[in-house]
Amino acid sequence: MSTPVQRQYKELKSKNPDAVLFFQLGDFYEMFQEDAVLASRILGITLTARHRGTENEMPMCGFPIHSHAAYLEKLVKSGYKVAIADQIEDPETKRIDRKIARVVTPGTSMESGNLLPEKNAFLAAVAREKNIFGVAYSDLSTGDFRTAFFETEKAFLDEIIKISPQEILIPAELFSDETFCEKLSFSHLTIRKKNSIQKSSDTLKSHFGVHNLTVFGIEKLKILIESAAMVLDYLEETQKTNLSHITKLIRYSTDEIMKLDAQTMRHLEIFQPIRLEESSSTLLSVFVRSFTAMGARRVRQHLSNPLMNAKRINERLEVVDELFQNIDLANKLTDTLKGCPDLERILARLVTNRGNARDLAFFRNSFALFPILKEICKNADSQKLQEYSNAFAEFKTLHQILESALVENPPLEITQGGIFKDGFDPELDELRALTNESDNWLDNFLSGKKAESGITNLKVKYSKNFGFCLEVSAGQKDKVPEIWIRRQTLVNAERFTTPELAEYEEKAMAAQTRAFELEHRLFHELLKQVCQQVEKIQFSAHAIADIDALFTFARTAIKWRWNYPEVIQDFEDLTIEEARHPVVEMLSDKNFIANDLNMAANNSRLHLITGPNMAGKSTYLRQNALIILLAQCGSFVPAKSAKLGIFDRIFTRVGASDNLAGGQSTYFVEMMETSTILNAATERSFIILDEIGRGTSTFDGISIAWAITEFIHNKIKAKTLFATHYHELIDLVDELSHGENYHVSVAQNKNGIVFLRNILPGGISDSFGVEVASSAGLPREVIQNAREVLQRLESENLLDKPNLFSVPRAREKIIEVEKESEVEKVLVKINPNELSPKEALDLIFEMKKII
Ligand code: ADP
Repeated sequence: MSTPVQRQYKELKSKNPDAVLFFQLGDFYEMFQEDAVLASRILGITLTARHRGTENEMPMCGFPIHSHAAYLEKLVKSGYKVAIADQIEDPETKRIDRKIARVVTPGTSMESGNLLPEKNAFLAAVAREKNIFGVAYSDLSTGDFRTAFFETEKAFLDEIIKISPQEILIPAELFSDETFCEKLSFSHLTIRKKNSIQKSSDTLKSHFGVHNLTVFGIEKLKILIESAAMVLDYLEETQKTNLSHITKLIRYSTDEIMKLDAQTMRHLEIFQPIRLEESSSTLLSVFVRSFTAMGARRVRQHLSNPLMNAKRINERLEVVDELFQNIDLANKLTDTLKGCPDLERILARLVTNRGNARDLAFFRNSFALFPILKEICKNADSQKLQEYSNAFAEFKTLHQILESALVENPPLEITQGGIFKDGFDPELDELRALTNESDNWLDNFLSGKKAESGITNLKVKYSKNFGFCLEVSAGQKDKVPEIWIRRQTLVNAERFTTPELAEYEEKAMAAQTRAFELEHRLFHELLKQVCQQVEKIQFSAHAIADIDALFTFARTAIKWRWNYPEVIQDFEDLTIEEARHPVVEMLSDKNFIANDLNMAANNSRLHLITGPNMAGKSTYLRQNALIILLAQCGSFVPAKSAKLGIFDRIFTRVGASDNLAGGQSTYFVEMMETSTILNAATERSFIILDEIGRGTSTFDGISIAWAITEFIHNKIKAKTLFATHYHELIDLVDELSHGENYHVSVAQNKNGIVFLRNILPGGISDSFGVEVASSAGLPREVIQNAREVLQRLESENLLDKPNLFSVPRAREKIIEVEKESEVEKVLVKINPNELSPKEALDLIFEMKKII
């Protein structure tokens, strides 16, 4: 590397030591030294060397600038930061300098390959003071900016896992707390220096142009001020651009929403399946596609933040119901929303100077939709929809300007002209006329030259490096007049210029260049006018997101035959009729068996569910939790009817979730999860426990499960569904004043057990473990042996050992035994493939006789 370039490189690299530096050299971005080694490995590009063979030899790799996006996205996706150093030429001295144009990081990337339309991409900053935790987070690609504080680490972690930021900024002193950082290791951590409270405050005030922070309600909350400022500082430092689409900081409190801890989100498979390969088995996957990306993001937000205020829930439900019932309204809305682009992200692109004229055209088209949306909302019956009509301001002037300015389909490139309509700007028209005139000149020139030289297939060609040329095919080369000047030799042709052509080129190019520059300037002026309306446009965009999300709820309800739940703030009972599990129902090709849940507060708040494996216990537990969750999000529910009060939390303890990598055994994880529930649940919570105490010895397990059941029933009083194989608990629950036993029905025939899947009153003291194992395909020998052992144990009364608890019931009393019928006996014997028509007919007569 020559010295000045080398110096520039070193300086830029030293300022961005933790980023891979894309260093512009002409038409390429090059990387050097360790950056080159790393990039070549991750991007799969060839590693070369500069000054090979000398003592200055250094690894290098690169790619053409025009193809940089894919490489950039890949590095960022792999968790790296990239600093982009572009060349800038001083117009006077022609000296070339380089400057960092922006730094792209996992939490700040606006590259389309790093953003999913249906998901927010957050950058968060965290702070801790004593036992108070603060978080602030922003989605640069939409302008969302929020902050909240938490009084326990658990609550903070649950929230940050829910936000799941792409990158977390962490103050240096917190970074030294390894245990804490470990808990955030699901994201990319970036260490930052914490600024003083004064400086942090100033950052926020100057960004939002306010005199004090009372407008955001954070003036007294040091950790929130610090973390919000940390986010803004980082965005400014990396983006080096206008961030005026971040128009406000919203402080929120999780007290107003139903708490869903990370474990419950996982167990209920709201966004992520427990087994990652089954991507279609989440609650989200049951929902139909929203019409807009904004709506899709809002659906996610709704599902992770169920409400606790019945009035707000009912406002949503009322809208869903209207969109469900009113086909005319739904059709109109469909037509309008279908044409609506991602206004939030387009606006963010434009404001941060990464937009193009097509983005402006999106606004032009969308502004035309606003009055229609306004009208639709105004004519609606539901109060909330009517209120949305205020969100669609008329952008009359701006709309007109965009209409008169932009061509129908503007180009993506903003420096190559072709953006504006003729007649929009007189100066542009003039420059264009000049270019057009010269087009005529070119035609005349070409025919003149053809006549003069006798080269009949003479052509005028333009290339970036050589400008305008006369192209002569190889066969006609001899006819070229001597005064033409050779510019370029191609395989089958040669290219020439003449003094007149060179002069024309200069004039034509000058007009064209000026026209392009003018268009570029006009584009920025137009952009400025759009940016001045940022807040108003965002307001409309948010309304579209809200409406589209509720419309998605309604369309999903139609698709799966969901119904309107009745949500009453202080209702104490819980009644769900014919409930279904939305995901199991969607995935099963057979009919789903619906079941009821009745919990009258004054006599039934803990249901113990017994029954064999695979009978449908987990499904039943989860479907009721999901129905509560959906109802509190303002969605219809997969049940014939549902009547419920407000639940403050849903708790789940489901299956065995080993965390062996984390050094925790199944039993320990189970107990930790249970302890969270017992410590945090209230009378207004809904708890599902799917097996407790399975990872330890039977007596230990039963004892723990017994004690937990009593504690929940007597102390917590939360509505609880508990599925277990500890049949000893059946008697306990029979004794509890607010407990009830239920079981999942099964029948048995000669082929094994048949799952009927009805939830019926009373317990069942048999798990049919051997039968289930048999249908799972265990070798016959093992099954036979197991049956014998079981018989022996039962006859020796060994299974009654835990007298301490209860006497198990006889299995014959409970199970429904289906004997093989006479007709079945006949059918089993025959092979239909071997029957003649006559024999078949005889058989039918025979069977008829038997009946
Ligand atoms: P358990 O918890 O009792 O072992 P699951 O709830 O896991 O049983 O159910 C096992 C399988 O049975 C489910 O994956 C589902 O395919 C099916 N299933 C469960 N409940 C129903 C139902 N009500 N109707 C139809 N199929 C069901």
